[in-house]
Amino acid sequence: MSYQALYRKWRPQTFEDVKGQEHIVKTLKNQIRLERVGHAYLFCGTRGTGKTSVAKIFAKAVNCEHPVDGSPCGKCAMCEAIQKQSSMNVIEIDAASNNGVDNIREIRGEVEYSPTEGRYKVYIIDEVHMLSIGAFNALLKTLEEPPEYVIFILATTEAHKIPVTILSRCQRYDFRRITVDTITDRLTELVQAEGLNVEDKALRYIGRAADGSMRDALSLLDQCVAFYLDERLTYEHVLDILGAVDTGVFSRLLRAVMAQDTTGALKLMEDVVIQGRELGQFVTDFTWYLRNLMLVQSSEGMEDILDMSSENLEALKEEAAEIKQAVLMRYIRIFSELTNQIRYSTQKRVLIELAIVKLCKPQMENNYESILNRLAILEDRLEKGIALAPARTSGRLAVEAADEEEEEVASLPPAQAQDVKAVLDQWGKITSDLGASLMIMLKPAMVSAGPDNQIILGFREDMNKAYFEEESHKAIVEKTISEHIGKTIRIVSRLLEGGRAEEALFINPNKIRLDNVEFIDEDI
Ligand SMILES: [Zn+2]
Repeated sequence: MSYQALYRKWRPQTFEDVKGQEHIVKTLKNQIRLERVGHAYLFCGTRGTGKTSVAKIFAKAVNCEHPVDGSPCGKCAMCEAIQKQSSMNVIEIDAASNNGVDNIREIRGEVEYSPTEGRYKVYIIDEVHMLSIGAFNALLKTLEEPPEYVIFILATTEAHKIPVTILSRCQRYDFRRITVDTITDRLTELVQAEGLNVEDKALRYIGRAADGSMRDALSLLDQCVAFYLDERLTYEHVLDILGAVDTGVFSRLLRAVMAQDTTGALKLMEDVVIQGRELGQFVTDFTWYLRNLMLVQSSEGMEDILDMSSENLEALKEEAAEIKQAVLMRYIRIFSELTNQIRYSTQKRVLIELAIVKLCKPQMENNYESILNRLAILEDRLEKGIALAPARTSGRLAVEAADEEEEEVASLPPAQAQDVKAVLDQWGKITSDLGASLMIMLKPAMVSAGPDNQIILGFREDMNKAYFEEESHKAIVEKTISEHIGKTIRIVSRLLEGGRAEEALFINPNKIRLDNVEFIDEDI
């Protein structure tokens, strides 16, 4: 038995077969029923959404001898002739290869003659945005005064390239991307009709990979079925053919990234490259994987929205429980940006590797999300009991450095300057005893002495100051500092808004002990 491509065989022949464009189909059927057909239509939308299919059905319907409720009967001579592509009434032109003035002039010549059979001559001009300016002008003349037996259907994926003069003469219809559900349903339907043996999960994956295009979905299915003609087509087969990776890889990649194991993550990436997987698809799929994790985190009962089996869902739930939402959102942002960057890049692999390194090292970024990510890592380490600060808080170094700042310290009252010095001396130990969040938030603080045995912490950012000032946080800081310097001490905070003059009264503990700071920047 010869194999006929599903895409050809299952091309919609009636309006009812067109999936996902109900709004357009309904309007067109009404026009036919009420005999209020227009003379120029513009069908816009991404590829594979049914523009030319609808155009052909429409051409059949307007010529049909016995239309049923606006749909072509499919049985009359006109319907059959159009179906067999032997009718002179339907003229298809691909503007991508016939974009000159002469091509359009030719049409204008033909338009003069009324149809010998049927009611309408229908010109379907595909990829109409490819026409030259001259050709558009020639077309415009015809559109201005079309003979009553002529209908133009212009189809395009790029409506913004059509001159306004043309647009204003057309009824415009925007074809929607088709949802994964609609595509999968259609695939299921035709797989059953064809008696093909295909795993549901495989169909679902094809439905998603088609990215809103029914035509792509059918040709993907064609490819897969042709490859495994007498076997059951499984999800694994589909992954093989499409050059996609199994979600297991995503899970391992995510775990490597969360553990900040840059080497492990890049190694995984290399495996994907060696397997010859399509890198653009890899990025899209990983982004979906992260999105699914986010959905699972966000609420219960996501089974219907997620495209997966119950056992995969369980695995996903376990994974989701281990990752903080803020961290996940940062990952999703980085990978969504990557999707756009790599689309036209010849350096896909390098860009992906760069993004993976970024995921592993939130300290490379300075935005709010990456700070939250760093906090999450710190908290995780604390839970696991991994030391945060290196043991070597070199007293010698601290004293030395404090000496460098002597001028400023000297300007403070002597007794209090001692307190400040003691705090500065032990700043590394103090902050590492504070807990991860306070440690991060206090890191940018500057230190100075105030009246009545007070220590002043100066902050440049309101966010850090506010965090410190929360009653419980402040109590922890005061208690910790007191324990370290062996003295009860009050801490107040101030927002540093007075510029350099004000800052000169403060000492930056981070500048003094570069050792500790370096640790924070490199490892967390
Ligand atoms: Zn008919």
